[in-house]
Amino acid sequence: MADSKAPRAPRGMHDLLPEDAALWRHVRDTAERVARLFDYRQLQTPLVEDAAVFLRTVGDESDIVAKEMYVFEDRGGDRLALRPEGTAAVCRAYLEHGMGSRPQPVRLYYFGPMFRYDRPQAGRYRQLWQFGVECIGDPSPAADVEVIELQRTLYAELGLGDLVLRINSIGTAETRHRYVELLREHFRPHVATLSRDSQRRFETNVLRILDSKEDATHPAVQGAPSILDHLEPDDAQHFAAVRALLDALDVRYEVDPRIVRGLDYYARTVWEFEPAGGGGQSTVGAGGRYDGLIELLGGPHTPGTGFATGIERTMLNLRERGAATPDPAVDVYTAPLGDAGHVATLRLARELRAAGLAVRLGLPGRGLRAHFRAAESAAARYIAIIGDDEAARGVVQFKPLTPGGEQRELSLGDAIEELRSAH
Ligand code: ATP
Ligand code: MG
Repeated sequence: MADSKAPRAPRGMHDLLPEDAALWRHVRDTAERVARLFDYRQLQTPLVEDAAVFLRTVGDESDIVAKEMYVFEDRGGDRLALRPEGTAAVCRAYLEHGMGSRPQPVRLYYFGPMFRYDRPQAGRYRQLWQFGVECIGDPSPAADVEVIELQRTLYAELGLGDLVLRINSIGTAETRHRYVELLREHFRPHVATLSRDSQRRFETNVLRILDSKEDATHPAVQGAPSILDHLEPDDAQHFAAVRALLDALDVRYEVDPRIVRGLDYYARTVWEFEPAGGGGQSTVGAGGRYDGLIELLGGPHTPGTGFATGIERTMLNLRERGAATPDPAVDVYTAPLGDAGHVATLRLARELRAAGLAVRLGLPGRGLRAHFRAAESAAARYIAIIGDDEAARGVVQFKPLTPGGEQRELSLGDAIEELRSAH
């Protein structure tokens, strides 16, 4: 055990241990495969951005900017931020690389760590991984439905097809400003009975009271006016078209006027995927349309829509459902006995690896019994024993590590052949 003075990982940040890596890779590989099925291309942006990328777009009252962003000055005096989310960074890159002159929409995905000074607890960390997609350059409801369908497919492929999709429309910034005034008047007589968090939000970001976890069952929250009754005709039409397409595709969803999302840049369609029964840190992935974002970065008006899914929360849900991904198998454990035997196992290992087989090298200086124990604890499929005598004759003692597996003397070539065919 480490002593109490030994350094630990920063609070809210975690090592990914080898025993968890197989499930993690499974999620990543599935996400990348589904992205390819929808013809989305990978974009990798730096972990660090000019802080303005987020300060200008995400919103001063958002959790991210108000209390979660890691901002620092580098040695040259530039103000940088560890990226808290992917969308604004992707839009910065879209603009910087002139992607507006490519055929629209441009379909992009990312997979990587984000950083938020969040309150650490199960499912909430300070370094979190996200997979996200952005469809930039198309204003239509069809683009919203394309990315929702991509997200739904991802969960279905992972075995999370039972996540519940909730959608809403939050109109445009102007609609929202008018609605926020209405909401403030609605909540004013109830402020004293709301949670501390909501009381703070009443002052700073009254919209977010609607998605407060603590106050979800509060009568004033339940009885709040719905933004859907205050949409402009164009926005209402857009939302109706999104729902009609989802219906036509038999995608199940609930309309939930309390989904408002935390970030300022959203407009029109917003959605979340959550386990049935919800609660706690339960949103697995969320998305929305962000037609004004690129303008906030100094670019031309460019519509966009996308989602991000949290990898840790996805894995949490997979584990709760008992998903297990076996560790990759070791094909062969090599057991050298003597110096010449050692060199021969090294040569054998090189050939086996060239044939795509995974080899764990037994190190010299051990006896046969110790090698067998090591091979079993590695869960190797075969053990290949080479002493000086076998080395001189160009053969190997070869034994499957299955019950009743028989040890045979084979030429090196035959041993490789047998492994290849049994692979
Ligand atoms: P919340 O309301 O839970 O704070 P959010 O609105 O801040 O969520 P988004 O910005 O929409 O979250 O991020 C998309 C997804 O990223 C979330 O649905 C979640 O799966 C994941 N996520 C967000 N913050 C964290 C975190 N601190 N730790 C782990 N995963 C996170
Ligand atoms: Mg948050």
